[in-house]
Amino acid sequence: MQIFNPQEKFGLEKIVAAFSSRLDGNMSLCFGDTRNALASRKKFLSSIGIDYKNLVCAKQVHGKKIEYVTQANQGSGALEYDSSVMDTDGFITDKKNVPVAVLTADCLSIFIYDSLIPAIAILHAGWRSTEKNISAEAIKAMQNRFNSKPEELLIGFGPSIRSCCFEVEKDFKSNFAFGLLKKNGRVFMDIALINQRQLVDCGVKKENIFDPAFCTFCNNDDFFSFRKEAQTAGRLISVVMLK
Ligand SMILES: [Zn+2]
Repeated sequence: MQIFNPQEKFGLEKIVAAFSSRLDGNMSLCFGDTRNALASRKKFLSSIGIDYKNLVCAKQVHGKKIEYVTQANQGSGALEYDSSVMDTDGFITDKKNVPVAVLTADCLSIFIYDSLIPAIAILHAGWRSTEKNISAEAIKAMQNRFNSKPEELLIGFGPSIRSCCFEVEKDFKSNFAFGLLKKNGRVFMDIALINQRQLVDCGVKKENIFDPAFCTFCNNDDFFSFRKEAQTAGRLISVVMLK
């Protein structure tokens, strides 16, 4: 699935960026039916030119920690969950052939590409990480380590549960100043809009944010949804790599 706007002039030939669908199988080594996960990863990733043994995954904790990774981290979480990078919800790298990934079922995955350095990031942004502004953490990390310019960054959003389906408690208002919609006395969260606003507040150009707006809950045939499937839900993978 195309992540970034194909109309862009930037050097998209320098990266591979993709997310999987339900048809590609469960990509998680610890959630849902994991029996075929390694085979599914191998098949999906090889189809986009990535060696599944090099994959870098995290033990995601709904925090805001961003980890800088290099070739030394290749294979962390690739073949068994326990070797995943600990307590991390985002990766940045400027190294080639280091495929960084997050696994989601309703949470928003965020791809970031700096074509000038070049450098990349991938984020796992559920509502808790969104509340902690993981988007801003990633932009800061890229500025600090790569001297990235926010206005040059390209952003892509993966599938997530959208405001059509993401009902939250009414007292969520105390957590979020914007991005909550009221419908018939119920409250729904627009997690993509909030992250978009957080990125724009960091200096990212709105027109550089590509949001295909797939709802995992509405399109449960195509994607995994934790809200819909609970503990049986598998995970889709969002992966990006510099070539
Ligand atoms: Zn929906």
